[in-house]
Amino acid sequence: MTFVVGENCIKCKYTDCVEVCPVDCFHEGPNFLVIDPEECIDCTLCEPECPAEAIFPEDDLPEDQGHFLELNEELAKNWPVITEQKAAPSDADDWNGKPGKLDLLER
Ligand code: SF4
Ligand code: SF4
Repeated sequence: MTFVVGENCIKCKYTDCVEVCPVDCFHEGPNFLVIDPEECIDCTLCEPECPAEAIFPEDDLPEDQGHFLELNEELAKNWPVITEQKAAPSDADDWNGKPGKLDLLER
């Protein structure tokens, strides 16, 4: 099992999650974070930290976000590890909860 970052992280990226991960499995892209499924130990610590409620156990991903598991796996290979919280984008709160953000994902 692994935890997965879902769509609502896109353009929010508050990064509260990264500080609590004991195995440093978050990777950072331009406007999204992902979890490396090969590193995640299912400790559950990150899920309640996310202000955007964007982190899910893989077995509990919303039906329309099933493809985010593969997306996390793919992007974790390309993006650097992030372990320290940083300032969220200034418009993060405006994007929190907006649907259809996958089209805005920057690689
Ligand atoms: S706390 Fe949530 S919104 Fe923020 S970077 Fe982590 S997964 Fe994304
Ligand atoms: S469940 Fe634990 S190990 Fe997995 S990403 Fe979250 S904090 Fe890291």
